[in-house]
Amino acid sequence: MAQRFALMIDPADADSDRADFVDTFTTVDAAAPALSVGELSTQRGDGVFESIGVVDRHAQEVVPHLERLAHSARLCDLPAPNQTQWHHAIDTAAAGCGDGEYVIKLILSRGVEHGPTPTAWVTVAPAADFTHARESGVRVVTLDRGYDLDVAQNAPWLLLGAKTLSYAVNMAALREAHRRGADDAVFLSRDGFVLEAPTASLIIRVGDRFLTPAPNGGILHGTTQLSVYEHLAARGFAAEYARIPASELTSVDAAWLVSSVRLAAPITAVDGVEIPVDHALTRELNEYLLSPRD
Ligand code: PLP
Repeated sequence: MAQRFALMIDPADADSDRADFVDTFTTVDAAAPALSVGELSTQRGDGVFESIGVVDRHAQEVVPHLERLAHSARLCDLPAPNQTQWHHAIDTAAAGCGDGEYVIKLILSRGVEHGPTPTAWVTVAPAADFTHARESGVRVVTLDRGYDLDVAQNAPWLLLGAKTLSYAVNMAALREAHRRGADDAVFLSRDGFVLEAPTASLIIRVGDRFLTPAPNGGILHGTTQLSVYEHLAARGFAAEYARIPASELTSVDAAWLVSSVRLAAPITAVDGVEIPVDHALTRELNEYLLSPRD
């Protein structure tokens, strides 16, 4: 989707107590060049980002996204983002959206080599239409992620809990899923546990229990999964973190891939084996996810 709007940000110190950041924002032509050729985000994918869903001008779950941006920055030894400044940038971007669904991206790059500051910017674009995935679901294949569940503790330089700009592997996994006739992929650890999808978290239902892989197992902690868990807990369901053996995926009562822009996509088949779809709960989850959430 074409970008509609872009805002360059002159990053303020995290502890700056100024209340107004207007003079740190520069609106740029979203279709024109804006970055230096020396940018490490484009040369090495060296930076972190967030994708925030916007529904009818309301940016969803801004604080959890900003907290994850700060967490990703910490893991990558990038300067801490000023939360108030980024919040104002998101408000500015959301105000420029129309009715319907949009996506705001926050990007914090290491900047130019030996440059003075990181490079930071925000973009806005209309969201793709995900009605089909939300209503008819997605077929997934399982793909080996190539490491054991404990790799995040043993090799923190792999930056596994960070949402880095280096998504070439995630995109390659999606292409492999398409080659195998599926819509999406679910990564498995080498030692046989379920991780996440290339751009979404996985939630399964077993009876009245909901389970998702623990976020310390080398995956991104999804803001949508957290939000869905709040909703499920309010409905009286047990919603827990667990080690989920890959073999359990085909014996679930329902499963979803959840993410900020596509929202809840029910899984209809795993490696060609059909699994039950809970259409009523899927509808309820997407109604909830489309309602204003802070
Ligand atoms: N896991 C990965 C690898 C992702 O890229 C994403 C989102 O892009 C998610 C999980 C879901 O995160 P969120 O719900 O915050 O969008």
